Amino acid sequence: MSAEVVLRTEALTKRFGAFAAVEDLSLEVRRGDVFGLLGLNGAGKTTTIRMATRLIAPTSGRVLLFGEDVRDNRLEILNRVGAMVEIPQFYPYLTGRTNLELLLGLSGSRDRARVAECLDRVGLAGRGDDRVRTYSQGMRQRLGLAQALLTRPELIILDEPTNGLDPQGILDMRRLIGGLNREEGVTFLISSHLLHEVELSCNRVAIVHRGRLKVQDEVSRLLAGAGSIARVRAEPLDLVRKVAAALGVAIESEEAGTLRVRCEPEALAAWAAELHRAGCRLHELTPGKATLEEYFLAATAGGPHAA
Ligand code: ATP
Repeated sequence: MSAEVVLRTEALTKRFGAFAAVEDLSLEVRRGDVFGLLGLNGAGKTTTIRMATRLIAPTSGRVLLFGEDVRDNRLEILNRVGAMVEIPQFYPYLTGRTNLELLLGLSGSRDRARVAECLDRVGLAGRGDDRVRTYSQGMRQRLGLAQALLTRPELIILDEPTNGLDPQGILDMRRLIGGLNREEGVTFLISSHLLHEVELSCNRVAIVHRGRLKVQDEVSRLLAGAGSIARVRAEPLDLVRKVAAALGVAIESEEAGTLRVRCEPEALAAWAAELHRAGCRLHELTPGKATLEEYFLAATAGGPHAA
């Protein structure tokens, strides 16, 4: 049986004047996914998320949440969705706890225990009674996630949740998302351009480029299809390039004297022999897997503004 689709966009399009920020975008987020929406700056991620959470209306196409068109039953459907879109805004002179109580109050609930639970879940139990203006960026992001959790949503939509966080904050956010996904079965849709982060956190991704869908698949499948990559560090470089050409191997990238070449692990011995025969000094020859970053760069080659 195929997994239940919790969020589906159908030919979603948003135009600002003549400019199509999002065009003909069909996405499918399944129950249990941590789904990454990837794209360069200006690719249309935030616009997509704003349409998915009904902050803005699409020009055409539609958004189905839990099988229902959001337009038909907006409040009831969105009650099952938590969201953190752009930088979370809170009253700075109120405490984290009071901010959450006010927000929960908007949905008609006075469940103080739930507020405490959410603060605890995001690791803010000890700081809940401090004013938000004393919070670091990472704490504000965590408070944003706590706010998204308040109504026990089945789906949480996060726009750039690791924006502006330091490495520890990024790790904390990854663990939080992973924990909520595994332990409470929460489905996530996350937009990001931190590719390494997405590779670690997400099971499925969509790559959006200039408003259009480039690819949508499981991360493991994308990477398996991308084949193996080897790192070669040898000198002199022009001779190394000649060896690559003689072996018929494509050089994927070249950075600071290190070449990344498409090469299966079994073919590494032939590389070593050829480099030796050509008189190269070999410093490093390591097998490796393609990364999501490499896949992404290939899929979006030409940059955000290219024709
Ligand atoms: P980033 O990673 O930089 O946040 P993004 O993928 O989230 O980028 P969007 O914010 O969705 O991109 O923007 C997509 C395009 O639509 C951009 O070219 C942006 O300038 C344009 N755009 C977004 N909102 C509006 C608006 N209200 N009016 C006009 N153009 C807009």
